[in-house]
Amino acid sequence: GQTIGIIGGGQLGRMMAIAAKESGFKIAVLDPAMDSPCGQVADIRIVASYDDEAALEELAEVSDVITYEFENIDYDGLKRLSQIAYVPQGAELVRITQNRITEKEAIGKAGCPVAPYIVAKTYDELVANIDTIGYPCIVKTARGGYDGKGQQLLKSAKDLPFAKELFSHSQCIAEAFIPFVKEVSVIVQRNGHGESYCQPVGENIHVHHILHETIVPARITQQTAQMAEREALKIADYLHLVGTLAVEMFVLEDGRIIINELAPRPHNSGHYSIEACNVSQFHQHIRAVCGWPLRKPQLWAPSIMVNVLGQHVVPLSNSIAKYPEWSIHLYGKAEAKVNRKMGHVTVMTKNIEETLQQIESSGIWSE
Ligand code: ATP
Ligand code: MG
Ligand code: MG
Repeated sequence: GQTIGIIGGGQLGRMMAIAAKESGFKIAVLDPAMDSPCGQVADIRIVASYDDEAALEELAEVSDVITYEFENIDYDGLKRLSQIAYVPQGAELVRITQNRITEKEAIGKAGCPVAPYIVAKTYDELVANIDTIGYPCIVKTARGGYDGKGQQLLKSAKDLPFAKELFSHSQCIAEAFIPFVKEVSVIVQRNGHGESYCQPVGENIHVHHILHETIVPARITQQTAQMAEREALKIADYLHLVGTLAVEMFVLEDGRIIINELAPRPHNSGHYSIEACNVSQFHQHIRAVCGWPLRKPQLWAPSIMVNVLGQHVVPLSNSIAKYPEWSIHLYGKAEAKVNRKMGHVTVMTKNIEETLQQIESSGIWSE
């Protein structure tokens, strides 16, 4: 059988691996942790840092195809790897999406709208140029941010000093605050033959900047949903995507869409597709990187995905008996730290509003 190598051993790698194993592939994973979520289900574990040359060579040796589950891999390492192994996604997508500056440029070149923004290499540059976008605005580190980390909301010039610290991490961008009515995401997948499909548009609800729930279909008009898919496909084609791209978007009051950011991999907001679609984002990802024909995604039923963070694990396990219709996913992480993504729950339903109410009144997510 063929072996798929995965760089990164988190939950995304684990769910990719489980999908791939259903089709008979073997899995090799590279991750620095001894007992990573993906390592627990892999056939071959290489325990080393992501930029360890010898480890990457070992991964190349044992793998027929190599993919990755997170975007902060060392770009040069990935590029070298693509010279000695089959890395169908290439390294360019990682280079572009690792940095908000190149990412925003690419979205614009693809012909899609982004929030008005400026690039600031230093704090002084921010102060000098901020007036071109005005307030309120959000300053974001160009590299390394996630779950709202590496961001600062500025309500007025008085708040400027709060952004100073961000520049110790990397260059920054400052973008206009968008008064969106909803956040949605589209997971678009494309293979090397240029065949592409979107998973149904999901509506994302964040709590403390961490994804809490994804509701599918998103509660937006059909026109807006179609526009969201068109924008995602435009970006995928522009980037010559192979694999998976998650496109996070803001929906404005008038139905227009602004692209927020990209992730070059399966995405937390696509986990509903495991139960709710004929082809999950993980199965489709494996098909895409293996050059298989893609399946046209189809939603079986409206669904809600809820993230299970560290503080939700005990209340969830105490309540499982009450909710036999919920699909429970846990990622095999040992330490249930506060705000750490430990698992998720997917509920397929005939009535989204009723199920949202059920989730809320379960009390599991009250912390
Ligand atoms: P993720 O965990 O999704 O990778 P991140 O830390 O990379 O998040 P963003 O997605 O850029 O950060 O921003 C986090 C959240 O902050 C967004 O989902 C949105 O709710 C809010 N936000 C970001 N940019 C803007 C904006 N320009 N206007 C209004 N709200 C914004
Ligand atoms: Mg992000
Ligand atoms: Mg985001």
